[in-house]
Amino acid sequence: MRVYNFSAGPAMLPLPVLEQAQAELTDWQGSGMSVMEDSHRGKAFVACAAAAEEKFRQVLSIPDTYRVLFLQGGATGQFAAVPMNIGTTGSAAYLNTGQWSKKAIAEARKYVSVDVVADEAASSYTTVPEAGSFTVPASAAYLHYTPNETIGGVAFDYVPEADVPLVGDFSSTIASRPLDVSSFGVVYAGTQKNLGPAGLAVVIVRDDLIGSARPDTPAVWDYGVMAKSDSMTNTPPTFTWYLLGLILDWIIAEGGVAEMERRNAAKAEALYGYVDASSFYANPVARNARSWMNVPFTLADPALDAAFLAGAQDAGMTNLKGHRSVGGMRASIYNAMPMEGVTTLIDYMREFERTSA
Ligand SMILES: *Cc1c(COP(=O)(O)O)cnc(C)c1O
Repeated sequence: MRVYNFSAGPAMLPLPVLEQAQAELTDWQGSGMSVMEDSHRGKAFVACAAAAEEKFRQVLSIPDTYRVLFLQGGATGQFAAVPMNIGTTGSAAYLNTGQWSKKAIAEARKYVSVDVVADEAASSYTTVPEAGSFTVPASAAYLHYTPNETIGGVAFDYVPEADVPLVGDFSSTIASRPLDVSSFGVVYAGTQKNLGPAGLAVVIVRDDLIGSARPDTPAVWDYGVMAKSDSMTNTPPTFTWYLLGLILDWIIAEGGVAEMERRNAAKAEALYGYVDASSFYANPVARNARSWMNVPFTLADPALDAAFLAGAQDAGMTNLKGHRSVGGMRASIYNAMPMEGVTTLIDYMREFERTSA
């Protein structure tokens, strides 16, 4: 039986995609083998990889002046790759809005001098800095921020402005709604939240930022090297790349990112609406900074957490336990989570409250 999987990542995938992958598993495109067994240099896989890039470009309307790279090491790899590739002036500005920003900052400090130009510590990372409230030094090579903090459930409701290239870690929000790529120098995202299984980071990088990597940059993270080889300097995770293509087919067939935005807004509105109306459940995040993708909520009495989770499991909902640093619950409601999953959760929350409060 399929469950409603509220995991923050790896996360739920659309059933039709899994079924297609299953149907093609032992005989992919008449090859008599699975896509996992074929050469990454063969005609079939090279075409499959190129088609995935084309679909990604279509879905996000990526301008021709940007390259799309498929790199290993996940988003965490990009925490290092970004300063190594574009930290040309030796310093960079970062916005600190929570756990993932902190990790990006700590990693960047190995390669560049980091200027944290806004830090939301005072609100315990339940807010985003106000637009225009921070200053980015002109000497910074770039400004890095985390549009959606997956752990804290905090999201920017605007795109920061800066005179230097803007870098966004879109791991938990990519393809959940339209994105104006032209505002960015680099957009990167691990695939395992909204785009497929784990194994890749997709990196959208503006042409003029390619080719200035410091000489000790590993080849597999050097944007110039990887752009030249179509991200195949070494063997890529072929199955992940293939499945990414199937997910993009699904997004396109469902109506693209505009339709994803409509559905995701409706799911988030329903869940926050219920939490806000209840005195039993609470969400700590400032209203203008609430994530559409990751919804943390606490119960009035943490002693009830275990019973809540066990009952949810029995009702076909899994991975609702909040991150250890936040406590309580977290419902991740990425593209593949249907509205019925959210209404099932809300119905369960209502019943749990009625029987436990
Ligand atoms: C999950 C996540 C990461 C880490 O991704 P990995 O692929 O595990 O390296 C980084 N940033 C954000 C915002 C995330 O949600």
